[in-house]
Amino acid sequence: MLRTYKFTTETQRLRSRAFLFYLCVLCVSVVNIYAAESVDTIWSARYVITEDPQHRVIENGAVAIRADRIVAVSSKADIDARYTAKQRLDRPDAILAPGLINTHTHAAMSLFRGIADDMRLQDWLEKFIFPAEAKNVSPDFVRWGTRLGCLEMLLGGTTTFTDMYYFEDVVAEAAKEAGMRGVLGETIIGFPVADNKTPAEALVFTEKYLTRFRNDPLVVAAVAPHALYTNSDETLKASRALANQFDAPLLIHLEETKKEVDDTMAARHMTPAAVLDSLGVLSGRTVAAHCVWANDADIAILKRRNVGVAHCPSSNMKLASGAAPVVKMLAAGIHVGLGPDGPAGSNNDFNLFEEMDLAAKLQKVITMDPQALPASDALEMATMGGARALGMDQEIGSIEAGKRADLITVRIDRPNAVPMYDAISQMVYALKAEDVRDVMVNGRQVVRDARILTLDEKSILAKAEEYRAKISASLK
Ligand SMILES: [Zn+2]
Repeated sequence: MLRTYKFTTETQRLRSRAFLFYLCVLCVSVVNIYAAESVDTIWSARYVITEDPQHRVIENGAVAIRADRIVAVSSKADIDARYTAKQRLDRPDAILAPGLINTHTHAAMSLFRGIADDMRLQDWLEKFIFPAEAKNVSPDFVRWGTRLGCLEMLLGGTTTFTDMYYFEDVVAEAAKEAGMRGVLGETIIGFPVADNKTPAEALVFTEKYLTRFRNDPLVVAAVAPHALYTNSDETLKASRALANQFDAPLLIHLEETKKEVDDTMAARHMTPAAVLDSLGVLSGRTVAAHCVWANDADIAILKRRNVGVAHCPSSNMKLASGAAPVVKMLAAGIHVGLGPDGPAGSNNDFNLFEEMDLAAKLQKVITMDPQALPASDALEMATMGGARALGMDQEIGSIEAGKRADLITVRIDRPNAVPMYDAISQMVYALKAEDVRDVMVNGRQVVRDARILTLDEKSILAKAEEYRAKISASLK
């Protein structure tokens, strides 16, 4: 009797303990559900490269996103405890990084890819590019060429591109359709081109374009006088005034070749950078492409005017333009980003992984110093450096709470990615554009599992072939 009673009491005690335990679990879960903040999306990965001021790389990290912004970045365990998401993407075999930023290109020229290689710049321009452009550039050409460019860029992890071409309003439409961010500059040049016959016409066109895309969530409309040597002083000054009126960036080619510097020195006894500065052209948001031949005085001017520099190592090497003094520029505190330039003959693709790798190696070659431009600097140029060069570092370039959600995942389960000791070194020296798996721009996923979600890839590839036949025939 006694034994039975004892047994019963023990059982009851165990039961009541179990009940209390489950009650506690239930309470904690209920509290968690109510405490967890709801977000739209959570992305997690084996490593999150943040490019934040501390340059944190978070192992088993995650990012919470609401609408177009990053809400939080932390360890996956922390994010999962604090947030519940409608959608999630878990990539335990990938790096999650900020979307790459292209600071100089001509996207629609993708339809001229490889039209003429291994030539002197002047022959390439005069015998192929100018005739081909005169006969073929139209809004339709620009639309399909930009679609092709955006397709390649997005699949390769570029989320923002900086463009200089004709019919830039059409470039902007195509970029928005692709769901890609763009700093898109209408070209102003001193001879008749496809969209405008005079610089005066181009300035009117550009003003309308700037007005139309003002406050666009994806497009930053810009003014792009081609270069000092292709424009009059008056046109350059008017371009600056127009850009400042809209607080728009001014994009320009600067000191790309030795010839450009020699000719300007001969004619004006000043370097091109000094001439632009004396005209007031650098007084306002400016992104100068190349700056290969910038001397110390030019570097001081670029720093003083807070000019962003777009370094294009592939293009500078392919056209034998020279090697830009990037180490010196960075030491001077200039914001330097990367660009593929091209793609018609000065590069032939839009691959920022290649530009990071080449940027690091080119500086080592010219300084004879293997410590010059380490991988961390190269990756920074493709992300935060590019954002600073464009004057957009408050919005893009890193994974930080409050910034736009421009993210990529890059797979690290292929032969070229293993073993991995350092995620940043791997990004710059081993991973390829083809390893990009997912891309988000402004909170919207545009590439999933290496497939584009926003564009019709098949029709773009078919159209490129159609244009190849048409362009070839036009040059005969
Ligand atoms: Zn260019």
